[in-house]
Amino acid sequence: MSDENTFDIIIIGGGATGLGVAVDAISRGYKVLLLEAYDFGKGTSSKSTKLVHGGIRYLANLDFALVKEGLHERYYFLKNAPHLAQAQTYLVPFYSLWDKLKYYVGIKLYDFLSGKLKIGESKFLSREETLLSINTPDLQQKNLIGSAVYYDGQFDDTRLLISLLRTYLELGGVAYNYHQVTQILKDNLGKANGVSVLNTLNSATHKFMAKVIINATGTLTDSILDIDEPEQKHNHVTAAQGTHLVFNKEIFDSPHALVIPKTIDDRILFVLPWHNKIIVGTTDIAVEAAEIDPQPSVSEVDFILDTLRQYTKNKVYNSDIKAKFAGLRPLVKPKHNTNSAKISRKHEILMSNSNLISIVGGKWTIYRLMALDTIDFIIKHKLLENKGKSKTQELKLFGYTQEKREYPLSVYGTDYIKILQIQKETNNFAKLHPDLPYYQAEVIYHIRYEMAQTIEDILARRTRALFLDAKSAFECANLTALLMAQELDKPHAWVENQLRDFHLICKVYLP
Ligand SMILES: Cc1cc2nc3c(=O)[nH]c(=O)nc-3n(C[C@H](O)[C@H](O)[C@H](O)COP(=O)(O)OP(=O)(O)OC[C@H]3O[C@@H](n4cnc5c(N)ncnc54)[C@H](O)[C@@H]3O)c2cc1C
Repeated sequence: MSDENTFDIIIIGGGATGLGVAVDAISRGYKVLLLEAYDFGKGTSSKSTKLVHGGIRYLANLDFALVKEGLHERYYFLKNAPHLAQAQTYLVPFYSLWDKLKYYVGIKLYDFLSGKLKIGESKFLSREETLLSINTPDLQQKNLIGSAVYYDGQFDDTRLLISLLRTYLELGGVAYNYHQVTQILKDNLGKANGVSVLNTLNSATHKFMAKVIINATGTLTDSILDIDEPEQKHNHVTAAQGTHLVFNKEIFDSPHALVIPKTIDDRILFVLPWHNKIIVGTTDIAVEAAEIDPQPSVSEVDFILDTLRQYTKNKVYNSDIKAKFAGLRPLVKPKHNTNSAKISRKHEILMSNSNLISIVGGKWTIYRLMALDTIDFIIKHKLLENKGKSKTQELKLFGYTQEKREYPLSVYGTDYIKILQIQKETNNFAKLHPDLPYYQAEVIYHIRYEMAQTIEDILARRTRALFLDAKSAFECANLTALLMAQELDKPHAWVENQLRDFHLICKVYLP
């Protein structure tokens, strides 16, 4: 096997967990390969609620250690990628004195658990201050007593993922999207030492060897364990679906995110400003089998609309929805049956008999900690030589800048300059669609610098068009395909295939 196909570590899965591990490992000095079956972030990592948070709702489960861990990670998350993650105020309205007392205790505890790594000071507002502060008549005012305002972070999940990818590539890492692991190879002692891979775009197959194989496939963790140990049935991860709806910001035009603190299924619903739109979510429904493109159900959409209507003065209808999206939470399966909303968000590291390492559970906010724990675990079990401690606490992610720029150029951080260069070079300063903020030059940038290969890569994850306004994304697919075909020198048949695939995906996101 040639040297270029041999690594210290192979990571299976290009979501938050896999790319987090990749950055930790490469920055410690290991030789690393990351393989993703679809596109980076195609799984759960593109479909989060976009919160960087300790998880205020877990306080109700008295899970203080978990909340504290999230609050600490929140600080480093924001610190190392200020161009992609920012502090955001969250407003919790209360309509009874009991609720006021409950939220007072909760929010002060949340501040306390942040310790020195606090990102803002929470405060309490009277009814008048609340209505003035949110500067909007949209909140339901009947019986409103006041509100609490606390801080958490907010981010663009796939843009952060691409920033992790670029950080990793710059440090010498190797990554392939559209490369599906089909087999775990073993040495003569039965230990995992390589993988067989299928390139899903051209059907070529490859073999790669490594000292350690890491399974970071989220809700598909058990499927990799099944190919590692086919004689056993694995059941470590359970999936819970969460759906979000996206609206124009007029439905709740406020600088604050609104927190609906208690839904009828005893959860929190967020109403978040994001890229000039409003995201509302999420639900929490146990699902039998994990799918890569889960479809929001009619009952989830109705539930979100019904709950939202109780808190907004403007009545919101199905026809107001600009896009819908659902993701599957990869949760560590509990020993006893329990409601999925109550399953802990803790992460766990497993080692199979073949030494295949699986990292499961957790959440986006703590991707860095999950990665650090995984590599420390591998060192502790002497699967690799110790090359020192994790360096990611101080590692600024690709594009890092504190300068504020307008969306969409803001997400490229310092690299926005290359988009301007492409505009000049191609003499194309036009937008992709009148109702979307994106430039045509961004498509070329995504191909040249961000490994985008399909229309969906560009309209769902490099830009967020499909998540913000599915109809407009559908409408600019043709233009996107033509720009791509020109840059990649692809024939007309390629454009047609791309459009057919993208139109199918749009069905999930279109209202
Ligand atoms: C609805 C919802 C809302 C959420 N909101 C938040 C939030 O606001 N804040 C927060 O911190 N967290 C949030 N989370 C949690 C967070 O999104 C997830 O914990 C995280 O994205 C999981 O990342 P992952 O890399 O483990 O999984 P994924 O992102 O699913 O990545 C796994 C990858 O493995 C790939 N793969 C699978 N099989 C193979 C194979 N054979 N070969 C190669 N690759 C393979 C898949 O294609 C996939 O891309 C939310 C989750 C959900 C579902």
